[in-house]
Amino acid sequence: MYQVGHFIGGKHVAGTSGRKQPIYNPATGEIQGEVSLASAEELNAAVENAKSAQAKWAATNPQRRARVFMKFVQFLNDNMDSLAETLSREHGKTIEDAKGDIVRGLEVCEFVIGIPHLSKSEFTEGAGPNIDMYSIRQAVGIGAGITPFNFPAMIPMWMFAPAIACGNAFILKPSERDPSVPIRLAELMIEAGLPAGILNVVNGDKSAVDGILTHQDISAVSFVGSTPIARYVYGTAAMNGKRAQCFGGAKNHMIIMPDADLDQAAQALMGAGYGSAGERCMAISVAVPVGEETANRLIEKLTPMVESLRIGPYTDDKADMGPVVTKEAQARIKSLIDSGVEAGAKLVVDGRDFKLQGYENGYFVGGCLFDHVTPEMDIYKTEIFGPVLSVVRAKTYEEALDLPMKHEYGNGVAIYTRDGDAARDFASRINIGMVGINVPIPVPLAYHSFGGWKSSSFGDLNQHGTDSIKFWTRTKTVTSRWPSGIKDGAEFVMPTMK
Ligand code: NAD
Repeated sequence: MYQVGHFIGGKHVAGTSGRKQPIYNPATGEIQGEVSLASAEELNAAVENAKSAQAKWAATNPQRRARVFMKFVQFLNDNMDSLAETLSREHGKTIEDAKGDIVRGLEVCEFVIGIPHLSKSEFTEGAGPNIDMYSIRQAVGIGAGITPFNFPAMIPMWMFAPAIACGNAFILKPSERDPSVPIRLAELMIEAGLPAGILNVVNGDKSAVDGILTHQDISAVSFVGSTPIARYVYGTAAMNGKRAQCFGGAKNHMIIMPDADLDQAAQALMGAGYGSAGERCMAISVAVPVGEETANRLIEKLTPMVESLRIGPYTDDKADMGPVVTKEAQARIKSLIDSGVEAGAKLVVDGRDFKLQGYENGYFVGGCLFDHVTPEMDIYKTEIFGPVLSVVRAKTYEEALDLPMKHEYGNGVAIYTRDGDAARDFASRINIGMVGINVPIPVPLAYHSFGGWKSSSFGDLNQHGTDSIKFWTRTKTVTSRWPSGIKDGAEFVMPTMK
């Protein structure tokens, strides 16, 4: 049994609140460690450390700040295997998938190595007689990030990389279910040359989050997690005068047009629906074939593929997917599947009773495939966040388009077609933030930005890309004149540039 505390001021700090939570191995159901849940005392210590280090860090020239990330990227690559092992052991995903989680965060660190260029400002010479005007972007001060369990490497790096590159100090509150990798990332940042106090990790639950949301010295909050909490964090942060970007849940559709290559579409659905046991905010959970024939052929192709999914612990390097994260998640997913059956959907592949020999207490759910799902059913409306793919049959393209358009969530969506006209129309009309054309999981690269629409996102600036530089800095505009003496006396009317 190992203990995970906090990382404050460049040092490991044991928890003092007396409150702890078990860390499970999802493949075996065993408790392997314990994480401390922070009290106000630990959060305050992190803020004090951040405060005392931030001004000097912001004054460090941007090339030097960038060099810390150059080193950090190298350390991530050097430590890839051990980071992936730690990640998989607490999360349950396969090792190769864990490496993808780390690499997608590493790419954001590579992006912010460009901070000298990214943070350059605007200047107008001669905005008026002898007047120059310039806008600069300065660090907000202390930022905080609250992250979900499903990407314990990538999402912390989405947040702390641009925040720190911009000259902020940062407090990370990772998911309490898989807290070891975030702490290791903070250690590696210090080894890469980051001054102590600039990146602090405070583990905890709602009480730590509420402490962040009401702390007067924290200026900006980034959140990724489920929609009810995203909505709460956004509202509470705003009420407390903080800027906030909060990303929530998803129900991502993939439309399969009659002209699509169905072998490609079926392969894409397998990876996007069942990879990481469906625990991705960009997972495809709804397939919408257009036309009866497309639907029948798609179900025919998918059925044997779902039946033969290889499910195993992260130590099985041939596994397609691992267990889900907790016993509660397993029970919740199974009860949603029950509700789909009761509501009249056809459960073509039933993974509810899946058991893995030698891992009977693991939180496994077998791959499930539903056909004839309709928009009124709970399995359609709710984010299941498990290995369950629902097929909703549409008669026409317009009927298919209408489904994601009317859905509460708007994170990602995809269309499979060979018709450029249909694809272009789809990309233009759809009210969803990230669109894939023959790409099932359209996660934008680090130099573009990531973010959904509707109930998948609250706030107006996305993760990474140039949006992140805007989010973690604020604008100051300076108007400057160097007059040689008083020439015209006082002016009492509103100054305008004549
Ligand atoms: P979660 O909402 O349960 O937890 C997210 C964070 O909020 C954690 O750090 C947790 O400690 C904290 N938290 C939990 N309950 C809280 C409360 N009542 N008050 C304050 N803070 C609280 O989410 P999760 O289960 O860890 O992650 C899965 C969810 O995250 C899914 O809904 C998934 O779609 C979503 N997600 C979204 C994106 C995106 O970019 N839109 C990316 C990844 C995950």
